Amino acid sequence: MLPAAEAEAKILDLVVSPAAAEQVPLESALGRVLAQAIPSPLDFPHWDNSAMDGYAVRYADVQAASTESPVALALTETIPAGRSPTQPVGPGQAARILTGSMLPTGADTVVMQEVTRREGEQVLVLEVPEPQQFVRHRGSFCRADDPLMQAGLAIGGPELAVLASAQCVQVPVFPQPRVAILSTGDELVMPGTALQPGQIVDSNQYALAALVRQAGAIPVPLGIVADQPQALRAAIQSALAQADVIVSSGGVSVGDYDYVDEILADLGATLHIRAVAVKPGKPLTVATFPAERGSAPLYFGLPGNPVSALVTFWRFVVPALRKRSGLATGWGPAFVPATTRHPLKAGGQRETYLWGRLLSTSAGYEFELASGGHSSGNLINLAGTNALAVVPVGTTQIDGGETVQVMTVS
Ligand code: AMP
Ligand code: MG
Repeated sequence: MLPAAEAEAKILDLVVSPAAAEQVPLESALGRVLAQAIPSPLDFPHWDNSAMDGYAVRYADVQAASTESPVALALTETIPAGRSPTQPVGPGQAARILTGSMLPTGADTVVMQEVTRREGEQVLVLEVPEPQQFVRHRGSFCRADDPLMQAGLAIGGPELAVLASAQCVQVPVFPQPRVAILSTGDELVMPGTALQPGQIVDSNQYALAALVRQAGAIPVPLGIVADQPQALRAAIQSALAQADVIVSSGGVSVGDYDYVDEILADLGATLHIRAVAVKPGKPLTVATFPAERGSAPLYFGLPGNPVSALVTFWRFVVPALRKRSGLATGWGPAFVPATTRHPLKAGGQRETYLWGRLLSTSAGYEFELASGGHSSGNLINLAGTNALAVVPVGTTQIDGGETVQVMTVS
């Protein structure tokens, strides 16, 4: 059994880079990953402009200004935002300027309105500004041709604003990984079906499709597959034809009907991982298929128990999907130290994940364990949780009030 961190590293090593970039309209780029660096088409700001409402002046004219002996300057014009100045500011002159307006030639400093007094066609400057104060210099944020953003960045609100400013109406992004989802088990039925004795609803399919989408990938739901080698083989072959990553749940234990590993080997896959020292989730199969058409499909055989399936997905599949999406950083889960409100118990043999809520309080982060059973078959109390407390190997109890590492999930 591999330790969790080693399994994560091994999985990330198996992940291949995404295929070549595709172009999407700016309006559709939210949540995608930038595939190329975006060079700045212009200097930012495009011209020297004012950071304040006030007066554009020559510093040399106002360096002796004070309340007792104000400096009087003759007004040339008012420069609103969106219009160019029509004349230079000469010695003894000032232009009325508004935030964002272009600085007129001759002026090198902006005096803010609050330290001036207007007298007809003159303005009195009552304080010495710093030289060049309140001037945003052309190119001071970014120079033309310098990269505005690097490849591998997730596109959110701020990135969309930068892309829009750069006139980038078609955005180069990586294709989203396509993730096939298979539920294995003779006992499984679709929701809406009257349950016969022994049957259960295939709930994993819905949870996994949602998590795939949240990870920025495209779910390809392939439904329920019977515990029969031929059916499983056909389903995996169909998944291989449509997806970059395949996630199945169930059938990876050592029971009589657990065929996944056998079929994978039969189909020519290399099995890299068969068990990880985590609880819930010990049986976890990770395999790769030989590369065809540039993509080497990655297979995750998750345990069938609903909590095990989700915990192993969060812990091991999400980092792989993030890397496969082309993100340059931030593949692994985020762990934060928190004070546990309740004692946390574990067996000590495997890294143990206990579900609950991470709360941000005035005293810092706290972890509230979900009430009810922490069995891997109990999916009910997983609803409403947002975090997993991690009890390390070798620890059997973390007392209330002690610090525990908490992995955030959503
Ligand atoms: P397995 O890993 O196939 O031995 O399944 C372990 C447990 O998880 C069994 O009790 C299954 O009934 C349950 N299970 C397997 N697949 C699913 C699924 N897709 N949805 C809900 N429960 C499942
Ligand atoms: Mg099964």
